[in-house]
Amino acid sequence: MSAGQRTGTATTHRVVILGAGYAGMAAAVQLAARMKRREGVRVTVVNAQERFTERMRLHMTATGQRLAELSIPELLEGTGVQFVRGWVTAVDADAKSVRIDDDRVLHYDTLVYGLGGVAGTSATPGAEDHAYTLGSAQDAELLAARLAQLGGGTVVVAGSGLTGVEAAAEIAERYPRLSVVLLGRQEPGAAMNPRAKAYLQAALDRLGVRVRAGVEVVKVLPDAVELADAVELPDAVELPDAVELADGERIAADAVLWTSGTRVSPLAAAAGLAVDEQGRILTDAALRSVSHPEVYAIGDAAAIRQGYGVMHGTCQGGMPTGVHAALSIDRVIRGRQPKPFRFGYYHTPVSLGRGDAVVQFTRPDDSPRRICLTGRTAVRYKETVTASPWPTYGRMKKMPASGAFWPRGGRFTRVRGAR
Ligand SMILES: Cc1cc2nc3c(=O)[nH]c(=O)nc-3n(C[C@H](O)[C@H](O)[C@H](O)COP(=O)(O)OP(=O)(O)OC[C@H]3O[C@@H](n4cnc5c(N)ncnc54)[C@H](O)[C@@H]3O)c2cc1C
Repeated sequence: MSAGQRTGTATTHRVVILGAGYAGMAAAVQLAARMKRREGVRVTVVNAQERFTERMRLHMTATGQRLAELSIPELLEGTGVQFVRGWVTAVDADAKSVRIDDDRVLHYDTLVYGLGGVAGTSATPGAEDHAYTLGSAQDAELLAARLAQLGGGTVVVAGSGLTGVEAAAEIAERYPRLSVVLLGRQEPGAAMNPRAKAYLQAALDRLGVRVRAGVEVVKVLPDAVELADAVELPDAVELPDAVELADGERIAADAVLWTSGTRVSPLAAAAGLAVDEQGRILTDAALRSVSHPEVYAIGDAAAIRQGYGVMHGTCQGGMPTGVHAALSIDRVIRGRQPKPFRFGYYHTPVSLGRGDAVVQFTRPDDSPRRICLTGRTAVRYKETVTASPWPTYGRMKKMPASGAFWPRGGRFTRVRGAR
């Protein structure tokens, strides 16, 4: 066992997990289940709230829909994991300590960093001050309150990635009195196969969402957004009911939802951990920080390289990173070497309001396969996927191996010489 805190004659190895989102919960439950009968390991989880944030449903929260109350301390009951509710304000990587709410300090021997990421508002003037986000449940509730107030008017969704698509569709479906405009560089569903993309765009059209692709929002004002010159799209794209606007024009908006880009907590960079240009922790093959191997990085907060490139933030990839970090910590504590992490994508499920959806099946490198689901079948598939993390944690408490299955990516992630 590696160094830890001496209590009497025994040594306690302190594992602190920051963030109890999809990845952090997977790490906590898996580690607790593996450590059950082992003396001398203490696992602590720190999270901003006791309630689990179902981030994949925040567009539902933003449109006033009530989600299930999922209590993290209740789920962790009986696992031996200590839950600390609080806001992490600093990590001291030299002293191996974490500061919470500025006044509490937790020491660790191993740190698991899973603080997630949010939309990148900082690069665009006015976005921080005037745009709503889906960064947290509280942020989504602020938008819900605003939408409920509006008797009519325009809601601009900035960012035509899948979060923007899901949010625009949800708002248009819930509030037909509002005009919803979806703006972004790429056409909605750009990474999908032609059939899935056409289905998605037709659904937006049916819901009355007006799409303008090939543009960049360069400024958010209290009552409008400003667009830059149109960005060239790879193909000439004819979008149904596209918004006809000259470049540089303003679009009046009664509410702006910002979904574009990614921003992670500055804590890792401030602690001196090696990070990429987005502030995500650079990891080795076993998910350890390349600069501080006692720190594991998981989920959206980690820059994890696979054979096909750096993983992008998803729950489908985030949960396996948490489980893998737990398995690695278990191995290291038993004096063994951690194994390399391998993951291949398999699907992209996208809700289009409550009554419609499209599911694009993918190759391990996230490129689209020919097969996709649409309509009610896709709705059921999407709901099953979205609802699955919580019961998965419950099962893992009793059967840790049940959480350790995910597609490894085959030849897309195979590294010569790796086991
Ligand atoms: C609307 C929407 C729909 C999505 N749909 C899908 C989908 O269909 N499929 C998919 O795979 N992915 C989807 N995603 C992406 C997915 O939600 C994220 O990739 C996933 O949440 C990442 O998990 P995580 O554990 O890294 O971070 P998170 O789930 O964000 O968890 C981070 C946790 O850390 C806590 N935290 C953050 N900072 C601090 C701090 N300083 N102190 C204390 N606690 C802190 C947060 O409160 C949170 O509990 C969607 C995202 C959104 C917004």
